[in-house]
Amino acid sequence: MSVVSGCSGNQTAESRWTDSEIKYYINHNASDQSVRAIQTAFDSWANETHFSFEYAGRNRAGLKKDGKNTVSFLTQWPDDIPFGQTAWSRCWYDRKGRIIECDIIFNQELARFTSLETNRADSYYIEGVAVHEIGHMIGLGHSAAASSVMKPESTTEESWFKGEIDDETIAMYRELYNTD
Ligand SMILES: [Zn+2]
Repeated sequence: MSVVSGCSGNQTAESRWTDSEIKYYINHNASDQSVRAIQTAFDSWANETHFSFEYAGRNRAGLKKDGKNTVSFLTQWPDDIPFGQTAWSRCWYDRKGRIIECDIIFNQELARFTSLETNRADSYYIEGVAVHEIGHMIGLGHSAAASSVMKPESTTEESWFKGEIDDETIAMYRELYNTD
């Protein structure tokens, strides 16, 4: 498989968060193991950035502007999102273009997922896919660098990223948020 993680396409180069404390939710049906893998991915970003991410509990699934940043594992992919995507993120903005909410969905109808706990073959690592999508969540676009977790397409084999955030991606973050 060589399916990819996708983007909302409505991001702008200047869009970012003003809050540094971001709460997130996970859909009710996600397994505890999936929750731990998602937490690992957010923790990886927290370790490398000025953000703190707090898991705030469960929420209903899907891309819905409800004031809660929600990560969902969907067994039925939305009709309006390209089906060949392993995952997708959608952000919402205020009138000044600042990010105010972002939801992430995983396509279980298409792809199989594993985690650092289970290491199932021919599956995407949740940690790796989530780190890519969280990159979009904080406002990053795609990277042309082959070694970047933010490159537009990753195979199951390449989900060896497993949540590690590369220097290229950190540089993109620093440019967007003007940090050193
Ligand atoms: Zn992407």
